[in-house]
Amino acid sequence: PSAADLARAESLIAIVPDFPTPGINFRDITPLLADADAFRAVIDGLLAPFEGTYDVVAGIEARGFLLAAAAAVAGHAGLVPIRKAGKLPRPAASVDYALEYATATIEMHDDIAPGTRVLLIDDVLATGGTIAAAQGLVERLGGTVAGTAVLLELTALGGRALTGDVHALFTV
Ligand code: AMP
Repeated sequence: PSAADLARAESLIAIVPDFPTPGINFRDITPLLADADAFRAVIDGLLAPFEGTYDVVAGIEARGFLLAAAAAVAGHAGLVPIRKAGKLPRPAASVDYALEYATATIEMHDDIAPGTRVLLIDDVLATGGTIAAAQGLVERLGGTVAGTAVLLELTALGGRALTGDVHALFTV
């Protein structure tokens, strides 16, 4: 994608103050998703560094699904959902991780083939807890993390300390 397309896409991420709780500046990607050219540009940008390196794209519920599904189709790869606790119908592995004031659990079906190369995608990298948990889950199930990509990294939160290298299309 061109720099101009990406700049326009970035401008379509809305900042919503005090959502869902006071003090949080929520980054709302729905205006970007609603724009065909911007959506296409970010999917191409997320995939660009990883061409030929992954077998499936894994998206983290819920906004990660929207990006990962489009990326999987564009990248001619399969899609694997990483879901919140209790949603997957077949045997799954789960991991608990810390949020700021609580814990959360994510799960993945336990039937990925050994050595499957997984490209992980989510919308926002904040503290890194979610992505680090997802990376651990993939490895525990015998997959390999081919890479991790996010639309937006909130650099002040230092998430990379937990996740290692992440391809962030936009950073603030
Ligand atoms: P974390 O585990 O702290 O990196 O948080 C990442 C998850 O929370 C991602 O799945 C994001 O969708 C969501 N998230 C965290 N902070 C924000 C924010 N400011 N705006 C939108 N989503 C966020």
